[in-house]
Amino acid sequence: MDFSKLAELLFPKSTSTPEEIEARFPVRTLPENACVTRIGPSPTGFVHLGNLYNAVIGERIAHQSGGVFYLRIEDTDSKREVEGAVETLIRAMNYFGVSFDEGAAADGDNGIYGPYRQSRRREIYHVFAKKLVREGLAYPCFLTEDEINAIREQQTANKENPGIYGKYAEKSRSLTIEQIKENIDAGMEWVLRYRGVMTDEYISVEDAVRGRLEMPGNNMDFVLLKSDGIPTYHFAHVVDDHLMRSTHVIRGEEWISSLPMHIELFNALGWKAPIYCHTATLMKLENGGKRKLSKRKDPELALSYYQQEGISPDAVWEFLLTLLNSNYEEWRIAHPEADYREFPYSFKEMSISGALVDMDKLKSISKDVIGRMSAQRIYDEWLGWCRQYNEKFAGLITKYPEKTLAAINVGRNAAKPRKDIESWKQACDFMSFYYDETFTLCDEMSEQCSDEALRKAFFAKYIESYCHDDDQAVWFDKVKAITEKLGFAVKPKDFKKNPDQYKGSIVHITNMLRIALTGRANAPDIREVSHVLGEETVRMRLDMWK
Ligand code: GLU
Repeated sequence: MDFSKLAELLFPKSTSTPEEIEARFPVRTLPENACVTRIGPSPTGFVHLGNLYNAVIGERIAHQSGGVFYLRIEDTDSKREVEGAVETLIRAMNYFGVSFDEGAAADGDNGIYGPYRQSRRREIYHVFAKKLVREGLAYPCFLTEDEINAIREQQTANKENPGIYGKYAEKSRSLTIEQIKENIDAGMEWVLRYRGVMTDEYISVEDAVRGRLEMPGNNMDFVLLKSDGIPTYHFAHVVDDHLMRSTHVIRGEEWISSLPMHIELFNALGWKAPIYCHTATLMKLENGGKRKLSKRKDPELALSYYQQEGISPDAVWEFLLTLLNSNYEEWRIAHPEADYREFPYSFKEMSISGALVDMDKLKSISKDVIGRMSAQRIYDEWLGWCRQYNEKFAGLITKYPEKTLAAINVGRNAAKPRKDIESWKQACDFMSFYYDETFTLCDEMSEQCSDEALRKAFFAKYIESYCHDDDQAVWFDKVKAITEKLGFAVKPKDFKKNPDQYKGSIVHITNMLRIALTGRANAPDIREVSHVLGEETVRMRLDMWK
């Protein structure tokens, strides 16, 4: 068969040469060892943690090496596409502090290696598809869905591998150019298939995380272009990562099984394959076992969840870095003040078994991350979140900026600083007692303080002796004196030893005071809180009880 003729028949409108296309995408001039990475999400409308997980690796690897990190939209499956999904994705990545050097942008493209949306690169794919046809490496296939189903049934019955290959490809492969032309003229649909070679050989690929992968080579006549002329992921990824000059392809481990096809295509097109890095699947613990995170069951798979919950983007990054590099936590302890971007990210420290997404771990990392932030930064980020998710609180903290900053700082300068805030959402709850507008009694006073007469007596005495400017020692001496007078033990251990001799201990007394002032049993230091509240508020809250 004259493959050049076939190429013209199939792609009459494709007139550029591969060389012309190559020239449009020049080899990048970058420092030696600089990495070019990307994420290639599909615009399905659902941005998941896995997108950010791979973005964190790509961003670190590229920027750490003085390279380029870009965004490519893989929108070859129009059935899965949702309107506005690209904007949602870009906004989410921005929110989480992922910065792209080039790629798809909300209003078009940024960079010279575009278009960065695969749906706009059709002509480019066709040039290379035509080249493969011209070289006898690809052919049109007119098998109908019914015919393919029949083949699959036969393969299942014979316990053979499913797919179009070897003898199952014969019918399409043996068409003459005249028959092909007739079919096309008759309006029959066709896909373009790669002409696979039946082989027993193995391919050997060095994965950046997994080391050497040995796999059976490809022998499938897999689809390059679908009947609408749109490429499959396999073909588009190879063409794009070559032309956009990616040095590393960081993607989920679910793609490992297609690797032989991709390697075969790189070879067929005469291109050097990038370094692959197949990342571990996100998992969670359940009933003592591990399972894959599921879109249906696990809200924490959606990136929007972290935004809605008000988890600081920095906390999400540090959480992912902890999942991704086994030495991150150790590094953080040794460099408590450093920016996480200073951490030397490495493929070598990546785990290949599933990455455990543990919300308790995230909360604890988040507390540390917020603990390290300045009060002003906490205020700004919290306010930014409140403006979107809690207008009432946005109003409060803008009405009382100084009080809010002082409240944020309570307990943060101690030798063992308090780490009360784990998310902006939780901060709206935890900090609510500082504002009269949101102050409520959440907890009940302890049994030892349930007697009304006793309570009244305590508050009357406390208010009477209260001097807002007392220092910590004087203040505490006064509390101790009242405690003793009311028949409570000043030393908790005395009460423990001889519970019958006391009505309770100083712990019950301060707990009562804390609840009166903050509405809750678990709140920061009473004296510090009193100073943020101001004398008038303190007296008002205490007066209610006397
Ligand atoms: N569009 C692919 C996905 O969403 C991207 C895989 C890749 O990064 O090459 O899984």
